[in-house]
Amino acid sequence: MSDRAEKRDLLYAGKAKRVYSTERPDEVIIHYSDDATAYNAQKRGAIADKGVFNNAISAYLFQLLARNGIATHFIEKLSDREQCCKRVAIIPLEVIPRNWIAGSMARRLGIKEGTRPPNSICDLCYKDDALGDPLINEDHAVALGVTTYAELKQIYARARRINALLQAEFDRVGIVLVDCKLEFGKGARGDLLLADEISPDTCRLWDRLTLKKLDKDRFRRDLGAVGEAYAEVLQRLERTD
Ligand code: UDP
Repeated sequence: MSDRAEKRDLLYAGKAKRVYSTERPDEVIIHYSDDATAYNAQKRGAIADKGVFNNAISAYLFQLLARNGIATHFIEKLSDREQCCKRVAIIPLEVIPRNWIAGSMARRLGIKEGTRPPNSICDLCYKDDALGDPLINEDHAVALGVTTYAELKQIYARARRINALLQAEFDRVGIVLVDCKLEFGKGARGDLLLADEISPDTCRLWDRLTLKKLDKDRFRRDLGAVGEAYAEVLQRLERTD
């Protein structure tokens, strides 16, 4: 057997990624495409080379988190657009730490975007496209049967630590981590693993000095220069000075 997993069947086609089985039952290959969707797939488009940037950015950040003791699904980057990951059963929850207020929270509560809250905030959404990923609370998540109170406690603690590590890393390169969306899954032994991706598709990233948006809001809000912003995030993260 080669030391690298090889692609077999398409298991799942998401909006921006495809997941393939491999000859190893516990490993999948995730392919990052250039497709972009927003507003529950009502807005569609493509961003040149987005898949290449997100694959690289996500691989970089998952490796950084692993070095800091976070258990993740990531195994290795295979090519420009592909990475090998542990196969997980995704818990259908979006866990959203918010450091500055933006997006849906700003809209829903009438708070100006860019406001810094005095406390730490973590939203929970139910991952269900047909329902538009509604905001829920812990009781709802348990009532839905997708998790337990004990597991939620672990998820929140993990999300807070991941958020702190990501905030520090982006701060190093002059970027504010405004918010981010995390997903967790269960590995072969039922262990809780950080899964999915961490990229400008799933985080709000603002330049610290100019507050220029370097994330998917450039696509959502037709701000232009979307691919350039993703490229800049990768280039800054790869800076070692
Ligand atoms: N987000 C995501 N996928 C989703 C919804 C949100 O990755 O389906 C990310 C989004 O990019 C942002 C954070 O989660 O970094 C919070 O998004 P918000 O709830 O403000 O929703 P939005 O304004 O994007 O509708």
